[in-house]
Amino acid sequence: MTSKEESILSGYIKQGWSLTDIECPICLTPLLKKGTKYFCGICNREIKIAEDIKEYLKFLEENIKNELREKVIRSLSLMIKDKDVLDEEIVRSIEIYIKLLKELKDL
Ligand SMILES: [Zn+2]
Repeated sequence: MTSKEESILSGYIKQGWSLTDIECPICLTPLLKKGTKYFCGICNREIKIAEDIKEYLKFLEENIKNELREKVIRSLSLMIKDKDVLDEEIVRSIEIYIKLLKELKDL
């Protein structure tokens, strides 16, 4: 761990977080814990720890839905970028993407 990383973590510890022996799956730094919340101070994001396989699958499903949603929105954004006028083909594609977003929301 670099001294910059140590200083980031000690900042969190001063704010009441405790250091755990669970590593961040992304950067392998020990995770911080406060209450039931796990957090990586280096990646600056909450890390969800599944208690069992059922919860793990729930987290996995959420991640897949979020990833799909982001990709659909990014694709839509690229599709209409630099277009002054939307032709019929683009409008049809947009309809498909919007339908997909609605279906993802209802899952
Ligand atoms: Zn991390």
